[in-house]
This record gives sequence, C-alpha cells and structure tokens, in this order.
Amino acid sequence: HAKASGKNTYHAFTPELAHTVHVREHMSRELHFAIDRNELSIAYQPQFQGQQLIGVEALVRWHSAVLGDVPPNQFIGVAEDTGLIFAIGEWVLEQACRQAANWNAAGQPVRVAVNISPRQFAHQNFVALIASALTRHRLPASLLELELTERLVVEDLQRAAVTITHLQQLGVRVSLDDFGGGQSSLSFLMLLPVSALKIDRNFVINAEQSAAGQRVIQAITTIAHALGLRVVAEGVETAAQRALVESLGCEVIQGYLLGRPMSAADLQLPFSPRIPPALHNVGSGDEGR
Ligand code: C2E
Ligand code: MG
Ligand code: MG
Ligand code: MG
Repeated sequence: HAKASGKNTYHAFTPELAHTVHVREHMSRELHFAIDRNELSIAYQPQFQGQQLIGVEALVRWHSAVLGDVPPNQFIGVAEDTGLIFAIGEWVLEQACRQAANWNAAGQPVRVAVNISPRQFAHQNFVALIASALTRHRLPASLLELELTERLVVEDLQRAAVTITHLQQLGVRVSLDDFGGGQSSLSFLMLLPVSALKIDRNFVINAEQSAAGQRVIQAITTIAHALGLRVVAEGVETAAQRALVESLGCEVIQGYLLGRPMSAADLQLPFSPRIPPALHNVGSGDEGR
C-alpha cells in the first residue's frame, strides 16, 4: 500500500491519492479517444491594445461524453504524463492555424497565440512541425504566436534559446506565459529572444491589493520594455484592474472584462469588445458590428 518514489522515500497511498490516481487513469483512458470522437474544440480569447484587437489566444476545450467538461488545467497534465500531448498539441496547432488562415483569407488578419507544453517544445521535430503547419495553411508566420511557460525553459536554457531563435527566424512570435509565477529569472529575459511577457493573473490581483504588488509589475514592465518586449496582463476582470495595469506599463490586456474565450463563430470580426460605458468612445457603440 506504499508507493516508492525515489530510493528511500515512501508516500502513504492514502484514499485521496487512490482517488486521484483513479481519476487520472479514467481521464487518460477517455482522453485517448477525445480527438477521434470529436470531443475537443478551441475557444479564442481576444487580446486588446487600447481599443484595438491585436490577437487571440487559442485555448483547448474538452467536452467528454463520459466525464463532461474537463478544464485544461486538469487534462493537459495528464496528456503530458501519458504522451497524448503530442497528438493533442498537433491537433490544437492545426485548428488554430486553419482558423487564422481563414480569418486572414477573409481580410481580417488576427494573430493567434497557441500554448505549447514543455514536452512538445522539447521534441526534436518541433520547429519543423511549426514550419510545416505554416506552409500547409499558407499562414504568414507573423500571424502565429507561441506561448511558452517558464517551466519549459528552466530545464535547458541554452537549448530553449536555440529553438526560440529558430522560431523567430521563421517569423513566428514567441511569448513567455505566466511570467513571474514560477522559477522565473531575469536571465531568461536576457537569453531568450521572446517578443512578449504575459503577466500572471495573480500579479494583477496582488497589484490591486498592495503597493508592493504594483511596484513589482512596474519593475517587470520597465525591464521588459528596456529589452524591447511587449507586456500582456492576463485575467483582467474589471475596468479598475485594467486602468491600474495600464498605468503600470502593461500595453496589452486580456481578460473577461474585454472578452471571454469563445468559439471562432462567436468572435465575429471586426470584434467589438464589451467595453464598460466609462471607456466608450463616442460613436463606437452598437453599430460596431
Ligand atoms: P493560460 O495559457 O495562462 O491561459 C489563460 C487562462 O486564464 C485560461 O484558462 C483563460 O480562460 C483564463 N482567463 C482569461 N481571462 C480570465 C479572467 O479575466 N479571469 C479568470 N479567472 N480567468 C481568465 P483555461 O482556458 O482554463 O486554460 C488554463 C491553462 O491551460 C492555460 O493557461 C494553459 O496553460 C493551459 N492550456 C489551455 N489550452 C492549452 C493548449 O491548447 N495546449 C496547452 N499545452 N496548454 C493549454
Ligand atoms: Mg497562455
Ligand atoms: Mg497565462
Ligand atoms: Mg495560467
């Protein structure tokens, strides 16, 4: 009833752990069929610079016939552990590139940001996979952005820098997601040729609660700008949060305030955000779409 982890460490196999293991096994069995059963979809969340839509983030959704809606925070980890992340990641990339190419062909170019998991990024064919997706969909590289987490670059910084350089040479943008959350280090910013930082939602919340939280965001944006990077604030839910993070130097805003993740069909372009009345420009009201 005890599970070995490492040489001398044993963790009690508690009922909670048994439950977790059971749930994860069940999930991975179902996830295995998710693509073939058409249970995955993508939601697109808008990103704004001022009043202008400058991009969308592609966020995978799983509606399992057996388990119901499962959030990505629960199944992406399972997909990484089981290796399913390769198939799922390719599926997401494929859909996102097709959608971006469709918007572009319709005269509405919108940059689509795709989240990349550490195992995908570490795969030796990763850059070739990206290049092939761009070619097959005739998608200009500038309309694709890849969001990497810090976790992924910590392990082998030199190698990550080489891969990111190859991506930038293709013309694809790379951003660092959830910046500040984990083991972030300023050396990442100096060594990795990324074009943007996404500040974690927790920082936005902290900034509202403390002056120290505000100074941290201000310090991050100052460094980022000195290195020529854009700064995106994630999880902005209120007009007050938006005003605050903009005053601290974040130029791009993403969050429920300006748009929830939604289907491509719902994101009709040109997209008019649900801006609170105080921020409305005269004449930019209901006729927008
Ligand atoms: P993320 O990349 O940091 O994505 C932002 C998350 O914040 C999304 O959660 C989004 O729905 C949520 N969010 C956006 N605005 C707000 C807001 O104003 N308030 C709150 N409370 N939340 C907001 P979601 O879609 O559940 O995704 C969670 C995480 O799962 C993502 O975090 C990303 O790390 C991962 N993920 C999602 N899709 C993919 C994918 O296709 N591939 C990989 N590898 N990971 C993915
Ligand atoms: Mg992301
Ligand atoms: Mg994030
Ligand atoms: Mg996150």
